Amino acid sequence: MTTKKRILTGDRPTGKLHLGHYVGSLQNRVALQDSYECFFIIADLHVLTTRPTREDIAAIPQNIRDLVLDHLAVGIDPNKVTFYVQSAVKEIYQLNLIFEMLVTVPRLTRLPSIKDMARNANIDEEQLPFGLLGYPVLQAGDILMPRAHLVPVGKDNEAHVEITREIARRFNYLYGEVFPEPEALVPDVGTLPGIDGQGKMSKSAGNAIFLSDDAKTVEQKVRGMYTDPNRIRADIPGRVEGNPVFAYHDAFNPDLDEVNDLKLRYRQGRVGDVEVKRKLIAALEAFLAPIRERRAHYEANPSLVDEIIAAGNQRTRAVARETVQLMEAAMGLTYFR
Ligand code: ATP
Ligand code: MG
Repeated sequence: MTTKKRILTGDRPTGKLHLGHYVGSLQNRVALQDSYECFFIIADLHVLTTRPTREDIAAIPQNIRDLVLDHLAVGIDPNKVTFYVQSAVKEIYQLNLIFEMLVTVPRLTRLPSIKDMARNANIDEEQLPFGLLGYPVLQAGDILMPRAHLVPVGKDNEAHVEITREIARRFNYLYGEVFPEPEALVPDVGTLPGIDGQGKMSKSAGNAIFLSDDAKTVEQKVRGMYTDPNRIRADIPGRVEGNPVFAYHDAFNPDLDEVNDLKLRYRQGRVGDVEVKRKLIAALEAFLAPIRERRAHYEANPSLVDEIIAAGNQRTRAVARETVQLMEAAMGLTYFR
């Protein structure tokens, strides 16, 4: 019998993961997998809130495999973590409907995140899908389904965990203690900028280095990276702050002496971008080599990933059935079964 607390975290299957995801969430997940019972949701139903067409759905299965593969490649152990596909656990639909009764429309309408998502998807207010407004309620279903205690999320999702806490409190107040009030765990890390230096690394901005990029691609991307635009020659003092090349050195180069030496000489105009980038390429290659090795292992046995997902779905369904039973028993929603 395990006494570990439960974690629920996850992603929408919208594409391959990049170095920004590693900094912002994956490294934290790798660190947490030993101390908690971890459930990682692959939130495919959340994709439908903004992309519901047949074509959108057809892209999901490969994205799911890529997402799981990226996690396994960075060192997530499928024996410690349960991956599952949201739409394969029908109990989440049940939780979602009950939770819809426990939250007000104005509470959801006031959330800036819903407006942001609508804007990013080019949906105007008149066309706002009911399901997009309900995104945080479905997320409460995701989180409360395994009765999670801890929810590692990015800053952008903190407000949604707050709604989950309110729904859990409201449920427990009306019907009796079923759900723990889950806490958000927001990692204290900065945002990794994109290679274009124009903002955060993001798969939709085309400025990402992916965990699955090969050595040649990584090298080309680093060589083309934005640095200090005012520095037209190597003997001009350069800016380290806000310079993505140094942000990457800080995140991925474990040789602090080398990084400090490069920064010092950069500020003094005694090192060229070429050397700074060459050393970054070496550091990234050292970081990516074991990731590529693990990826190659799973790619050589493609059915392994599918089996991991199937086993995770099955295990999660058992937990979800238990939760729905507890929920319906507490509510007295047990007649004519
Ligand atoms: P999209 O372009 O589809 O929005 P994305 O690449 O921006 O994708 P998200 O799915 O929005 O990625 O990010 C999921 C989570 O990954 C974020 O909440 C955050 O924790 C982390 N993350 C993503 N990009 C970065 C980044 N550049 N730096 C740090 N963390 C990041
Ligand atoms: Mg994003």
